[in-house]
Amino acid sequence: MQLAPAGHHLARHARVRETMRAATLDVLLVTALPNIAYLTGVFASAAALIISRDDLNLIVDGRYLGTAEARRSDLPGLRISLISATGSFDESIVDGLAPYAGLRAGFEEVHMTVAQHRSLVSRLRIGETMPELEPVQGLVEQLRMRKDDWELGRFRDAAARLSDAAKCILPKALAGMTERSVGALIDAELRRVGFDKPAFDTIVASGPNSAVPHHRAGDRRLEAGDLVVIDFGGMLDGYAVDLTRTITVGPPGPRERDLLEQVAAAQAAAFAASTVGRLATEVDEAARNVLTMAGLGEAFTHGTGHGLGLEVHERPRVGRRRAGVSGELLVAGTVFTLEPGAYLPGWGGVRIEDDVVVTPDGPEWLTDVPRLM
Ligand code: ZN
Ligand code: ZN
Repeated sequence: MQLAPAGHHLARHARVRETMRAATLDVLLVTALPNIAYLTGVFASAAALIISRDDLNLIVDGRYLGTAEARRSDLPGLRISLISATGSFDESIVDGLAPYAGLRAGFEEVHMTVAQHRSLVSRLRIGETMPELEPVQGLVEQLRMRKDDWELGRFRDAAARLSDAAKCILPKALAGMTERSVGALIDAELRRVGFDKPAFDTIVASGPNSAVPHHRAGDRRLEAGDLVVIDFGGMLDGYAVDLTRTITVGPPGPRERDLLEQVAAAQAAAFAASTVGRLATEVDEAARNVLTMAGLGEAFTHGTGHGLGLEVHERPRVGRRRAGVSGELLVAGTVFTLEPGAYLPGWGGVRIEDDVVVTPDGPEWLTDVPRLM
């Protein structure tokens, strides 16, 4: 697995510290595992990270000690705290926070259970003085929205592999095959083109099932004339890419073709709106307007897209404007999907999804596969 160069990690630390200063935090307790991977290059199933103005303390258990130690040659400032065989993460976190008594320590409120918060507060209270625990939201996630050049390189590579897989496999989905067997072909192809694993459970939704956006892959056999929504993705070096094509089994009928063209037009409108300084909600509006004008507004039952990165769904949320929620501004380096769809219950549906990056010169497609095939 390739990791970002040390200089990129150090730049990420500098940006977190800058954001902490702006929020008047002296220290930040990071418990979201993708945020820890982003800042240290350690992909663990359990870990905590305490980042202060001049220290970086990674708390791991024995399983990840070797991986964490190996990162110290790249990141000389990284300290590793090993939780003892009989100790707990919470104990180690309290030990790590103790030196900051009287100062302001942020914690990620979205990524901490009420139980863990209660446990930390009660343990900290045992000491004479304790840092003040302040809830923060999305501090590191916000920074992750702006992909650096190394990350964009990984995305270009992964998107090219995903496009190759799509071009190779989509023509192989034929009448008589079950959805599950098409899914198995795709998963094998993802590994063949070099992905570490599928990014999520592959979706193959045929005939009437294609009208169900969350259908997975079942025992239905593909029939001539079916619309088939095929949605799949891969993880490469920790990053997710995601693609959907809707194919027809045999040549499309006029109604199928019309639906495919409307959804492709909605996606093209969303692409044109994906520029620096626009709100992610405006991208959704652009796609939604096209489908609404075509009488398909009600048939478009989900958001237009989602950010991609160390998680399959991350910032920004490319969806409808929500009352009381300020929209997310697109910045250069934001990577997300554009996946409008139209679903006609009992008959069939179409979704077309590609990955895009916002650059200072405008949007750029990352995936490259014919949309009507
Ligand atoms: Zn998808
Ligand atoms: Zn998606």
